[in-house]
Amino acid sequence: MEDMSFIDQTLQQLDEKQLRRRRRDVTGPQGRTILLNGRPVLNFCSNDYLGLAGDPRLIDAAVRAMREEGFGSGASRLVSGNMDAHRRLEENVARFKGTPAALVFSTEYMANVGIISAVCGKGDLILSDRYNHASIIDGIILSGAKWRRYPHRDMAALEKFLRDSGRHSKKLIITDSVFSMDGDIAPLDQIVALAAEYQAMVMIDEAHALGVLGKNGKGAAEHFGVGDKIDFQMGTFSKAAGAFGAYCCGTQEAMDLLANKSRSFIYTTGMPPAVAAAAEAGLNIIATQPSLREGLLKKTRHMTGRLKDQGWDLRDTRTPIIPLVVGEPQTAMEFSERLLEEGIFAAAIRPPTVPSGTARLRLTVTAAHTDDDVEICLSEIKGIGKRLCLI
Ligand code: PMP
Repeated sequence: MEDMSFIDQTLQQLDEKQLRRRRRDVTGPQGRTILLNGRPVLNFCSNDYLGLAGDPRLIDAAVRAMREEGFGSGASRLVSGNMDAHRRLEENVARFKGTPAALVFSTEYMANVGIISAVCGKGDLILSDRYNHASIIDGIILSGAKWRRYPHRDMAALEKFLRDSGRHSKKLIITDSVFSMDGDIAPLDQIVALAAEYQAMVMIDEAHALGVLGKNGKGAAEHFGVGDKIDFQMGTFSKAAGAFGAYCCGTQEAMDLLANKSRSFIYTTGMPPAVAAAAEAGLNIIATQPSLREGLLKKTRHMTGRLKDQGWDLRDTRTPIIPLVVGEPQTAMEFSERLLEEGIFAAAIRPPTVPSGTARLRLTVTAAHTDDDVEICLSEIKGIGKRLCLI
């Protein structure tokens, strides 16, 4: 029998470095407050930016779809058929984003892994921001393409890589549009200009931008007015849309290529219709209720301003993702634990999710938080921050 002692050794090493992750039990739905290990706490760590995860409209849409189309989807969509809920969701995404077509994946992790490896392979070059999400990194590794990482949002470095890129058959620039652990925004206007100059394709991950940025909540591509210059626009329904699943949009031909070449689309069972219907309902709320987004951005500005006044290093956040960078994992853990004792749930984020020496509390504000929630959170952060000598 194989020696399994590596399991204990690995866990022990993680414990020693304060990097072991543990799941906490939640009872009931996600929302501004949650029952955590049986105790109600204010929830400042979810990506449910518009507070839709427990919304009755999503639940009703899911129940209706289940009654009409059942729960399971049978097999891969290429095998047992594209169900009504899938087709409707793709039509809605394409209409909302203003692209000719869209393709739905089961999650954005799967979208990133499948799309990148469908578009690029050996002999191609991928240029990606150093802070890109793990699912992008995994997709790049799987693709087998040559990979160069430019320093975070460093356009001079990106241009240098493009200038030196030489003889690769295809070039692809990939970036998160809003960075998940920093809340800052990729300079998409400069990226599309460089892509045009050096004939590169562009792919963006709008996970944290859909429903948050842009005049109509379409994301950072809309914020910069560059949607028509981006070849593959991806996003997830699991954050602001309150549901689950992901999309990619672009030309009809590009989506047909993905449906034929993305292994994470082909070799997996189709998304359950109830999930697709909930995603459609979430998208519809984003499209028709701009006041939710406006309220969220107002709250974000208020909270960010007050935290800056308290003296925190918030990096360059412009979105509801507010990083309070404290340095070492142990400090971030203690900060998070003390907040939890006071009834505030905000996750400590440690390496390898963020670079070493930049462990942080990742605070997220949502449209569902009340002004009182925000005040309580700010006051606890200030008190604990001072007691821990962080500010
Ligand atoms: N991209 C980014 C930037 C993300 O933050 C996430 C989720 N943390 C994903 C992709 C994955 O999305 P999903 O949950 O739909 O797999």
